[in-house]
Amino acid sequence: MDPPLTCPSCGEALIRHELAGIALATCNDHGRWLSHPEMNRLVEALSMEAKQTTSKARRRVRRLIRTRRARREAANRQRSGLGSFFS
Ligand SMILES: [Zn+2]
Repeated sequence: MDPPLTCPSCGEALIRHELAGIALATCNDHGRWLSHPEMNRLVEALSMEAKQTTSKARRRVRRLIRTRRARREAANRQRSGLGSFFS
């Protein structure tokens, strides 16, 4: 379904355009309008993107924790190695 041709607020003709495959209509005074199915598609696309961003961030944090743990373990090994060298 297409977005409205005229602004539901002021009745002016809307400028039609597309954003990420979603049809939008813009009124200079009242912002963007879109049909209900298009809004659902937009919400779905955004929540999909949010999920991907969240899992990407989780992976990044896990990698960081692993790296820090490995560094700490390496430092501990080095420390204990030096300890036995000096004792
Ligand atoms: Zn308007």
